[in-house]
Amino acid sequence: MIRTIHVDKLTENIKEMCIEANHYLSKDMDKVMKKAVDIEESDLGRQILCQLQENLEIAGKDMIPICQDTGMAVIFLEVGQEVHFEGGSVEDAVNEGVRQGYVDGFLRKSVVNDPIIRENTKDNTPAIIHYEIVPGDKVRITVAPKGFGSENMSRVFMLKPADGIEGVKNAVLTAVKDAGPNACPPMVVGVGIGGTFEKCAVMAKKALTREAGTHSEVEYVKELEIELLDKINGLGIGPGGLGGRVTALAVNINTYPTHIAGLPVGVNICCHVNRHSVREI
Ligand code: SF4
Repeated sequence: MIRTIHVDKLTENIKEMCIEANHYLSKDMDKVMKKAVDIEESDLGRQILCQLQENLEIAGKDMIPICQDTGMAVIFLEVGQEVHFEGGSVEDAVNEGVRQGYVDGFLRKSVVNDPIIRENTKDNTPAIIHYEIVPGDKVRITVAPKGFGSENMSRVFMLKPADGIEGVKNAVLTAVKDAGPNACPPMVVGVGIGGTFEKCAVMAKKALTREAGTHSEVEYVKELEIELLDKINGLGIGPGGLGGRVTALAVNINTYPTHIAGLPVGVNICCHVNRHSVREI
């Protein structure tokens, strides 16, 4: 049966989610950050991790953003095919939610209206919206504000099929090594393997929103996540890039079928705040 949802519901939820994601570390990230202190071997690394946690706690208590770069609002909308929206344009409603969240929530406005002319839009719109039509009559909204310290260190590698899984590992490790301290480590590394040029990048972005500390249901992908996390944490970049064991908190990988002639790999690097807020309406 068709379920009607007024677009104002999108606006209200997205406004709250922009504010929430920018002020509180998600539960999964909180858990892996706490675990990181026990794993870290360097004294300076442990000290930095403790300072980051103290900063995150103060942010939540005093309603201060968890980072000054409150990001560009990336939004995944998984829309049930039984849903009918009423009350106006979905895209306008999403952007209105971002506008209200960033203006009323006093969040930094980081978006420019044109990549070359570069005038600030002053309300952090437009958002980057990824739509997906799924079975059912619900809408799952994921709001993931993305800072550009780490976004700028992200990469797409168009590998050859013969490069195989070793090529994938090298690509991920190259991206992380090149990112070094610029991505505000400890990082979360989102990886998309397969699809096309654009598909692997979107998969890598979506992978960042999967709960840190969980693994892919595909056995070889799960093993690859564990192996890559271990290898990344052997690079010595460490918390804040000042040396140590904990360079990454998680590696999340998504895969998709691809063409016989290619092996695209997207690596989307995120910092330790890895903001994401999820709701279903
Ligand atoms: S990369 Fe993350 S922690 Fe670093 S400045 Fe950007 S949002 Fe903040």
